Amino acid sequence: MPESNKEALQRLDAAHHLHPFTDGRALQQKGTRVIERGEGVYLWDADGNRILDGMAGLWCVNLGYGRQELIEAADAQLRQLPYYNLFFQTTHPPAARLAATLAGLLPGDLHHLFFTGSGSECNDTVVRMVRHFWAERGRPERRVIISRNNAYHGSTLAGASLGGMKPMHGQGGLPLPDMVHIDQPYHFGEGRDTDPHAFGLERARQLERKILALGPERVAAFIGEPVQGAGGVIIPPDGYWPEIQRICQKYDVLLVMDEVICGFGRTGHWFASEYYGLAPDLLCMAKGITSGYQPLGAVAVGDRVAETLINGGEFFHGFTYSGHPVACAVAQACIEVMQREQVVERVRDDIGPYLQRRWASLGDHPLVGETRGLGLLAALELVADQATLQRFPTDTGAGLICREHCFEQGLVMRAVGDTMIISPPLVITHEQVDELVEKARRALDLTLSTLSNQQGK
Ligand SMILES: *Cc1c(COP(=O)(O)O)cnc(C)c1O
Repeated sequence: MPESNKEALQRLDAAHHLHPFTDGRALQQKGTRVIERGEGVYLWDADGNRILDGMAGLWCVNLGYGRQELIEAADAQLRQLPYYNLFFQTTHPPAARLAATLAGLLPGDLHHLFFTGSGSECNDTVVRMVRHFWAERGRPERRVIISRNNAYHGSTLAGASLGGMKPMHGQGGLPLPDMVHIDQPYHFGEGRDTDPHAFGLERARQLERKILALGPERVAAFIGEPVQGAGGVIIPPDGYWPEIQRICQKYDVLLVMDEVICGFGRTGHWFASEYYGLAPDLLCMAKGITSGYQPLGAVAVGDRVAETLINGGEFFHGFTYSGHPVACAVAQACIEVMQREQVVERVRDDIGPYLQRRWASLGDHPLVGETRGLGLLAALELVADQATLQRFPTDTGAGLICREHCFEQGLVMRAVGDTMIISPPLVITHEQVDELVEKARRALDLTLSTLSNQQGK
């Protein structure tokens, strides 16, 4: 048989392409999945299979695939001015307009924006910025940034260091100095025998103990995702964030919210900081800002830090593609579509509650120990015993088995260990939510039989 187009691509890919976050040998044995096309909430692979994208790409394609408004905005900007930089006292219309639009959407006094090309670059910018801020304020010894175990803040050196992913730290001697971690507010994983509220407070108070152990005069900032995404859609108990904010204020530690996933409607609010009643000093955004159509990130900066930066002489930081005009034009179009179609309100009042109700119905499945969610984020925990919530031994790989069954069913659902997570496009319809939940249930049934066959052997 002649080699198909797909096989030819797989051969070229295996020969020349090193993939991000991929086990290369496993990939070469299996052959890559080739995705060719997208429309709405669906993807099509090279075999013509239609797949419901329950992850919106990587948490980013919030308006779904194939949106004409975004395509036209990119096309028009490419013709008008495909590139210019923002260094050395220059601006261009898309960046200036987008900064003003974002300042109008953001909570609190986040009135200034620094553009980057990605979420990771936002977090590198945060490190540079908060240390520069404290140095300008005459406190150069305030350098330490506190984060959390199992946080995800990207994959540059600073992003991976701020993140709390042990396997990432293990490769290359991370974290960098002066980046330290406290425990995460993961109730099911680390405190399910305890009262959730007390557990949340206890985890928040670790921040105070860490600040005191380091010496408050050395601590620059605390960074956290409102809801941890890549760590497994970990929703902190109520009381956690207010306590974190209280502690930051008490010790004059800057509060940095990494809203790379939560921003732009994912939780039913433009930013999750509003939902949690937080007034961060810095806020990072990326992913949904362009619905993933262009790479773009931005750090929103509160008045206090912005004034110091503006009056602090030149800040020696920036990227060639900071505020790329095409990316900014697409972000502007994306926000306009969201406003016109009231996408955020719809997540808050209609499709978010509907998805959460349908998702919770999976809780009766014998493999499921917990379901949880917020807005259009949701997770479920696979357990070996529903009565005792006993988890599978880690080498069982229940999550990966379930993920493969989801793909067979035509559904992208991601596995973080034995936590199954979804983050579908915000434009998903009620019928598509039903389809997602039905496919997830079939995948759970198939996972159960695969696991009992394994045990039978
Ligand atoms: C994805 C992500 C990042 C990294 O963004 P990149 O664009 O991949 O660099 C940072 N923080 C959070 C919370 C993320 O989910």
